[in-house]
Amino acid sequence: MTQTQHFDVLVVGGGHAGAEAAAAASRMGAKTVLLTNKVDDIGQMSCNPAIGGIGKSHLVAEIDALDGVMGRATDKAGIHYRILNKSKGPAVRALRVQTDRKLYREAVQEILQEHENLVIRQESVLEILTKGEKAIGCSVNSGRAYFAEAIILTAGTFLAGKIHMGDLQTPGGRVGEPASSALAESMRGMTFRVGRLKTGTPPRLKSDSINFEILEKQHSDDLAPLMSARSMREERPSQIACFITHTNTDTHKIIEDNILSSAMYSGAIEGVGPRYCPSIEDKIKRFAERDKHQIFLEPEGLESDLIYPNGISTSLPLDVQKEFVHSIRGLEKAIISQAGYAIEYDYYDPRDLNYSLETKGIRNLFFAGQINGTTGYEEAAAQGIVAGINAARLVKGRDPWEPARDSSYLGVMIDDLTHLGTKEPYRMFTSRAEYRLQLRQDNADQRLTNKGIDLGVVGSGRASLYREKMKTQRELADRLAREVIFPNSGIAKMLGLELSREFKLRDLFRRPELDVLRVADALGMDKTDAKIVSALETIETEIKYEGYINRQKVEIQKIRQSESEALPADLNYDGIEGLSSELKQKLVHFRPKSLDRASRIPGMTPAALSILLVHAKRASAE
Ligand code: FAD
Repeated sequence: MTQTQHFDVLVVGGGHAGAEAAAAASRMGAKTVLLTNKVDDIGQMSCNPAIGGIGKSHLVAEIDALDGVMGRATDKAGIHYRILNKSKGPAVRALRVQTDRKLYREAVQEILQEHENLVIRQESVLEILTKGEKAIGCSVNSGRAYFAEAIILTAGTFLAGKIHMGDLQTPGGRVGEPASSALAESMRGMTFRVGRLKTGTPPRLKSDSINFEILEKQHSDDLAPLMSARSMREERPSQIACFITHTNTDTHKIIEDNILSSAMYSGAIEGVGPRYCPSIEDKIKRFAERDKHQIFLEPEGLESDLIYPNGISTSLPLDVQKEFVHSIRGLEKAIISQAGYAIEYDYYDPRDLNYSLETKGIRNLFFAGQINGTTGYEEAAAQGIVAGINAARLVKGRDPWEPARDSSYLGVMIDDLTHLGTKEPYRMFTSRAEYRLQLRQDNADQRLTNKGIDLGVVGSGRASLYREKMKTQRELADRLAREVIFPNSGIAKMLGLELSREFKLRDLFRRPELDVLRVADALGMDKTDAKIVSALETIETEIKYEGYINRQKVEIQKIRQSESEALPADLNYDGIEGLSSELKQKLVHFRPKSLDRASRIPGMTPAALSILLVHAKRASAE
């Protein structure tokens, strides 16, 4: 074995977790090496070419607040933007961006190239090298070894990956790429609890074989916000439309008739699949009463001739895939260019990790991404940035950064994973956060950028953008507080308001009928300027929800002061009024010892915690 250079931080894997981890560590000044199977595949999207969605875009905003890669790469490759939950409250509003798969990969690689302390090598890692209970490096298949002070493993779905299609099974990390069998085998000899999970992907269709003429068209939302504060709307690629179709009773019958030939139902797969991203087989079984399921036909890129049919992930044999695809409106003559498949892979129980994402069993070794039982690019990237920060801090002899769950979704996810573990692929949702009105996408930078500057992970460019945004926001807030709107004035008319007396614009902003775009118009501002709109959105939410937000702050304070309050082991949760039946079930299942533990149960709300606090206090007084 030839010894090569010594690095501060070594990252294994160039997926979403690996790219973010390597970039964060190098931004913090650590001499970092990224080792990955194929350099050209860095930033590859294994499944759908889209970033964001409910809960997920919140994670991307937090990554961006820490000057990470994902939001910037998304805007460089974004070809279709949509605001989700537009009509719902600001806490759950989210952004989903469909990207050009090739442009996304190129953007990630381009951004990594900007990182001065980062070296990228094409190497397949065979084994993590240890000395006693400490990781010191890794061996690779070219015969070399790499050494580092901290190692971050982000091997995604590649560890003992097995691809399933019907009764065909082949080893693989994703289609066309080999599984990491040697690495998985050597990891099995370590102290970690290993499980199997599975996920799946739909067949890809040839664009010119689809009859788009008869399908519903969905346009990109032109005024949707961007994913990164560093992006400019005019720098985005061209925007294109998606199309919508549905499965039907014929489709369901074909699938039902062939269900036993699906790898998922034949017993060939032992791993548990993602509940919130089910295969079409699962949907038909679980929602038998439904006679159709929606399918979004999403172009894979501006120059690609492939369509990603979102909603029909499957592991049925190819001939059945063809038959059911052809039963769908608009897809009667669709040509499958790559079959759908399921993949099973090793993951490690995240309860074997410290909050920093360093493993408990082996010092200086961090895990991030899909190998911790999560699913999705955003969840992986979010863990990557935290692992990168903490690996760099470890090298500098500093304490780890542990993002709290009341100030970030990063904290919610890491707290959930490290304390509760997961038995099925963990996906982020806003409902996992107790304090979601505080953890909005629009205020991620207010929650995290100053912290990121202190940590040294936020570069000067991102830091000055943040300061500018805060200045704009302060000036706008002052203007709203000063501006008085008189009845029948020009502005009142532009706002569409009939007023009985004069009002400060700030107070009028509380009214549900007034939104950011109308206010921007009335004040003569450019409503296509993403930065102004984003500042106004934050102000709007803080004004409209002032009462709730202040109450939530008081709740957080109260809960923080009572975290150690014990909950009786025999507490009759079923008899407690005001708790939802779902929460009651979870409380009975987990039987948390303290209020702090209860606060970490997924779906727990501040209101429910306040109820539990009363019971905890009552018990301690008895
Ligand atoms: P990955 O993106 O998998 O990256 C792992 C990286 O590690 C790769 O670059 C790989 O080359 C490298 N690597 C692995 N082993 C080694 C080694 N020994 N040496 C060097 N480099 C190595 N998510 C969803 O949310 N919804 C879905 O519907 C969905 N469907 C999916 C379907 C399929 C078929 C697959 C494969 C994945 C799917 N995913 C889905 C998961 C999604 O792709 C992952 O969540 C995400 O890519 C995880 O990012 P990661 O960085 O952890 O790992």
